[in-house]
Amino acid sequence: MCETFNTQFVLAARPVGLPKIEDFKLIRTPLPRVEANTFLVRNTMIGLAPASRIRMSEGPSYTTPTPLGDVVYSQSLGEVVESAHEAYAPGDLVVLTDGGWQTYVLSDGSSAQKVDTTIAPASVWLGVMGVSGFTAYAGLMKIASLKPTDSLLVSAASGAVGSSAGQIAKAIGCRVVGIAGGQQKVAHVRDTLGFHDCLDYRSDTFADELHTLGGDGFDVYFDNVGGPVRDAALTAMANFGRIVVCGLISEYNNTGKATGPGWMPILTKRLSVQGFLMRDHMDIREAFYRDMSAWIRSGKIKVLEDIVEGFDSLPIAFINMLTGKNFGKTLVRIG
Ligand code: NDP
Repeated sequence: MCETFNTQFVLAARPVGLPKIEDFKLIRTPLPRVEANTFLVRNTMIGLAPASRIRMSEGPSYTTPTPLGDVVYSQSLGEVVESAHEAYAPGDLVVLTDGGWQTYVLSDGSSAQKVDTTIAPASVWLGVMGVSGFTAYAGLMKIASLKPTDSLLVSAASGAVGSSAGQIAKAIGCRVVGIAGGQQKVAHVRDTLGFHDCLDYRSDTFADELHTLGGDGFDVYFDNVGGPVRDAALTAMANFGRIVVCGLISEYNNTGKATGPGWMPILTKRLSVQGFLMRDHMDIREAFYRDMSAWIRSGKIKVLEDIVEGFDSLPIAFINMLTGKNFGKTLVRIG
């Protein structure tokens, strides 16, 4: 049974620095009408991602900013409740790349992915089986060309992308060291996810420990955070090491120009540095589903979800994720 209205969070103001609750406004609008080749989805869960913060600012980026007054960009999981589309029927579970912070969304199927709960529970399709896992897979397989003999260093290691990257590399046979904020996350990454080690970047001894653990240097650094953590990581690389630039979360709230890194390690260690966007690598999507579902089935990949209850919690859950208060993939249950 559908409501008669759609509840949405729209972008009320462009955040300056860390977003504030007042940057988002709750509104109600009429339910969208289902027309030919479209279907209506009732969202049950919203998957939060740092990339939404990039879209909240104007300025050069890989994507167009969310216009003021528009629904906040996000992925969602939901159930088809009405359909005039031949490929989707009421009851189908789907993940929508652009489902947004809203209770209902009208889709033409172009950003929809059907969810197969025989492979993994529905929520996992917003995380490890979804964009987060695929980003990790594409960055390691295509950008780093990861080999079992490589040692991998990965930042934001308890987060959605970082935990996937470290576990994928471990499943392949690599030695994996994580970087995370705080002892609780460090212990989880090491003891539950089974990374060979994990370091707390907030510790005074972080830089020294990084060099000790790195030995002759890391072959690959999978960077999710940028900033001072990245600068420290560059100095702990092996000669000819590869840096995969996945994300720069420590810099998304910057109001001034980002600084550094010094390029000396890139020169002296002959490092290669490549940024990437997962959306450019859809050619390996089927290989990802095959490998990831096998790793989940065999227990090689563990899923950590940070589930927050209630639609009204979306802004605070998002702010908490940007400041590292999340523990695993941040999901807001609204159904
Ligand atoms: P996470 O689940 O990892 O959550 C973000 C984490 O970032 C926080 O938990 C926090 O962990 C860490 N963090 C926040 N601020 C800082 C800081 N100042 N310094 C160091 N770490 C910080 O998010 P995701 O896994 O969804 O995203 C990880 C990265 O991947 C992001 O940069 C995102 O933009 C990027 N990404 C890139 C894609 C691509 O196509 N290139 C696609 C998807 C994501 P802690 O407590 O350990 O500090």
